[in-house]
Amino acid sequence: MTKQLPCPRCGTTRDVDIVEREEKVTIHGREVPFTAQFSRCMTCGEEFEAPGQLDANLAAAREAYARLYESPKPEELVALRTRYGASQKAFSIILGFGKLTMNSYESGSSPDSTNRLLLKLAAKPYIFKEMYSINKNRIGALQRQRIEASEAFRSAMEWDGLEALSASLTALQREKIEVCAGQNGLPVSEQIARYVGCESFQDYSRLYAEAQWTSGTTRQIPGASVLVNSALGVAG
Ligand SMILES: [Zn+2]
Repeated sequence: MTKQLPCPRCGTTRDVDIVEREEKVTIHGREVPFTAQFSRCMTCGEEFEAPGQLDANLAAAREAYARLYESPKPEELVALRTRYGASQKAFSIILGFGKLTMNSYESGSSPDSTNRLLLKLAAKPYIFKEMYSINKNRIGALQRQRIEASEAFRSAMEWDGLEALSASLTALQREKIEVCAGQNGLPVSEQIARYVGCESFQDYSRLYAEAQWTSGTTRQIPGASVLVNSALGVAG
């Protein structure tokens, strides 16, 4: 590929070749190999980075670093996929990958930045459920059954209509709500509406209690057990 750029050595515009070279940079103290692109003056042989190549090379180095050090590990991907009861192929299709893509990631190849993002999002059941509803007709009935029966998928169904709240809670907080709901034989939405607390669930108790009192007088909140009793309508 040939184009014209100002050559720093010749001091004038010259025909240049685009050449690629393996380079190494150090990012966060780690050496990262990546493929860098340069322009080579066809007159004097000088190699230089045009402004666009400088940006592209920085981006390539960052991406190489992310692939090496920020990619999900194969065992983490297996764990993610099996939480939803999905085969490699079904999981690939649901996330919009090629059919064999999960297989290659679980065998050690690194996802690119787009797929890393999708994999990260898929870890949230309510987002996975959205992906599933878009692509479920492209996978087999048996796979659909298995996924819909998985605990992770069912937990997303339980948060239906409460996605914003679900997103604002940590995974641990969501799990605690689900455990409480399960113990009380209630749907998650009802558990939240009524909130009756586990002792370990103080933050949510406070949130709930404060929400209850917003329109009334401001009250001092002495402690979580009192909050729980108040939420229950029991005198502290
Ligand atoms: Zn030159």
